Amino acid sequence: MKRTKIIATLGPATEKKETLLKMVDAGMNIARLNFSHGSYDEFKNIVQTLRLVEAESGHLISIMQDLQGPKIRLGEIPEEKMLVSRGDIITFCTKKGVKGTVHVPYSALPKVVKRGQRLLIEDGLIRTKILSTSGDKVRAKVVSGGYLKSHKGINIPETRLPASAALTVKDRKDLKFGVQTLKVDAIAVSFVESAEDIIRVRKEIAKYTSRRIHIVAKIERAEALKNLEQIIDVTDGVMVARGDLGIETKAEKVPIAQRKMIALARVKGKPVIVATQILQSMVSSPIATRAEVSDAATAIFELADAFMLSNETAVGQYPVQAVKTLARVAKATEAEIFRNQELAPTATTIPSMQEDGAIALNACVLAENLDARAIVVMTESGFTAAQVLKNRPKIPVIAITKDEFIAHKLNFLWGIEKIIVKKGAYRSEDMKNQLKKDGTLKPGEKVIFVKLSDKKRSLVALDV
Ligand code: ATP
Ligand code: MG
Ligand code: MG
Repeated sequence: MKRTKIIATLGPATEKKETLLKMVDAGMNIARLNFSHGSYDEFKNIVQTLRLVEAESGHLISIMQDLQGPKIRLGEIPEEKMLVSRGDIITFCTKKGVKGTVHVPYSALPKVVKRGQRLLIEDGLIRTKILSTSGDKVRAKVVSGGYLKSHKGINIPETRLPASAALTVKDRKDLKFGVQTLKVDAIAVSFVESAEDIIRVRKEIAKYTSRRIHIVAKIERAEALKNLEQIIDVTDGVMVARGDLGIETKAEKVPIAQRKMIALARVKGKPVIVATQILQSMVSSPIATRAEVSDAATAIFELADAFMLSNETAVGQYPVQAVKTLARVAKATEAEIFRNQELAPTATTIPSMQEDGAIALNACVLAENLDARAIVVMTESGFTAAQVLKNRPKIPVIAITKDEFIAHKLNFLWGIEKIIVKKGAYRSEDMKNQLKKDGTLKPGEKVIFVKLSDKKRSLVALDV
């Protein structure tokens, strides 16, 4: 069984039910809807299809809405794409449909940029230098060319853009649609700068539902790295959003930031997603490069919880193969971590969670010493599961929780084999019997039950 979670961005390459079924069978756990692209109707259809796929495949699929945030993007590019080469002059225009110009729907653009600054497109793939600005136009010279495509992101690293990390008007509208209509399980917040940004999103969500939606803070600004600890404290999970982070800071700072983020989030029991260019070459090739495979394995050695595929599954030619490739890398790397003591994670905890941390760690040690069939965590919010899983136990973890919604939230955590939804109070003995009945546990096996709630903590070993 694969423990590391796989998130796939859905798009034109992955709207068909058959494709989604194959991806889920291959190991996709979470679907990402990127609200920088796609229409409400498309998202509605995708969500309907996903829920069918979930029922048919018997695999849990969580749905994550990714809010665009304050990012400048290209407008529509006629005929999908337009080739620009080194030395070409591009005229960007904030008005739509002006002949000989490329539309950028951001009216302040000519005022906020200066001659000599770099204007980068698609996570820096295409590079230009600004020559002049006037009225509603910005002229720039291409330094490194490629295809301009509709709605690709723009970065101007030397400029502090006036747009703040606060939710934009579009984000608020999209969030309402996601929570009320699509009933998403998780929301990813782009360009987070501080803990307040996350608190603001939680308040916005509370206007529409009482469900505890899983919030992922996308770390892609230098400012967010400075406030990392406070952000992790208030969020449910973080994402190493390497695309924008590599431009907002520097590409060579990204691996350093990734290590720090994973280490800190693990101590606090919050799942980490590593994203962008994971298997970039698989957009147009059926085989990943050695460097990509190695990067993915490194993230697992660093103890990341999940990967997110972007173009590879949204518009790539090999979405199913991309998921299969990641699943294979995950299995091989996880097996090595379990086998090689030197790679085993060190026990970590913070003072406020010392008791919980100790019991969770002991559950893992006990399970291994007794060679238990499973560690069963009884978890209401996901806290107990996270505390146990951060020790990366070799013994499979089964979670029992009270509602469907928390189950979808738990799906972000590394390593849960099975999630059981069961209402009402439960005793270890009853749960053991149920698991025996459904064939999960067999006579002669041992099982560990662990529960960490405010009033009562328990750790029990039972014979089946
Ligand atoms: P972000 O900055 O949020 O990562 P992005 O533009 O880099 O945004 P990704 O989801 O990382 O987007 O990459 C997927 C690419 O696939 C996009 O750049 C876009 O060109 C394309 N894409 C994604 N979703 C859709 C969709 N629903 N419809 C059309 N194209 C899509
Ligand atoms: Mg983004
Ligand atoms: Mg991206």
